[in-house]
Amino acid sequence: MASASSSSAISSISHHFRSQEPIIFPSKAYSSVSTALNGRRAFGSIKAAQKTSLGNPRRRTQNVDGDIFVDNTCIDCDTCRWMVPEVFTRVDNMSAVIKQPTCKEERLNALQALLSCPTGSIRTETPPTDIGDAQETFPLALDNDTLPGVFHCGFHSKKSYGATPYLILHREGNILVDSPRYTEKLAKKIEMMGGVRYMFLTHRDDVADHKKWADRFKCTRILHSEDVEPSTIDVELKLEGSGPWSLYEDIVLIHTPGHTKGSVCLFHKPLKALFTGDHLTMYESGMSIIELYNHCSVPLQLESVEKLINLDFNWIIPGHGRRVHFKDGEEKAKSLEALVQKHREKELDSKTENQTKTCHVTQSRFST
Ligand SMILES: [Zn+2]
Repeated sequence: MASASSSSAISSISHHFRSQEPIIFPSKAYSSVSTALNGRRAFGSIKAAQKTSLGNPRRRTQNVDGDIFVDNTCIDCDTCRWMVPEVFTRVDNMSAVIKQPTCKEERLNALQALLSCPTGSIRTETPPTDIGDAQETFPLALDNDTLPGVFHCGFHSKKSYGATPYLILHREGNILVDSPRYTEKLAKKIEMMGGVRYMFLTHRDDVADHKKWADRFKCTRILHSEDVEPSTIDVELKLEGSGPWSLYEDIVLIHTPGHTKGSVCLFHKPLKALFTGDHLTMYESGMSIIELYNHCSVPLQLESVEKLINLDFNWIIPGHGRRVHFKDGEEKAKSLEALVQKHREKELDSKTENQTKTCHVTQSRFST
């Protein structure tokens, strides 16, 4: 049920570039904004992007004809594409409708994507009289057979750069993983499902409307102290050190620094599912550590990936991009090892290239 006192909660804690990967934050026209933020492609980028097109958001010509379309404020976050790949695809670095829904179910799914879009970039030519039906479907069960009790909340927030929020039902109290956009309709639905005891924030980027959710459910917010910022200073439970921390007997929080210093994954033991935030994900181009938006240290993040190789999970449930289901532990271990190796080789190549460049510069100095 909703609510639990912070003190009891605490005591229970035992201790692209663009052509390749979708973006979390737009960069093409706003690189100066990003640079000014010292590598933190922050919300300012999204706001800048939206301001630019807000005056005249228009239907992208890349959409097929018909009622549903994506406009030019799309930030290429991938959400609609993983939710409804039959309807949405990526064309020229943004989403577009490739096929209008042809049945009631497809229409409902497309409207669910419309509601989840963090920037409101999916629209209809005529007012959607069936939007209420789509709203009622959230939170959406991920998969009743393989991931029972795990729900996609929808209503992604641009304040969380479009990250996916989840709800985990648990007999000792439900857990909200990262923050959806606050809507009272969604809150009422979650209340009917038992409310929220903990709001687990994977890292500093995906906190969106955390305060509103905390006020509504009197839940205990959890964030690693390394990722606490002025806007999250009031978070009830700040994780210290390197963990791991047992939230419940079957739920463990694992420190995986690298993307940010305070990135933490949530491990659901019975489901063998790892909620990874921005630590690990799957894009159309393959498994990713979202290197382009690394805020802390890629080598450290790779070490954190290595730490997970022997952890007994078969699911990656990420903040951005697609879920991954490994056939077994062996397949998971091979995939993570390959990912680490790929990045280490890349690092080595770039070091060699830099050394070669230095050598050429030195030679040319001597020859002048
Ligand atoms: Zn992030």
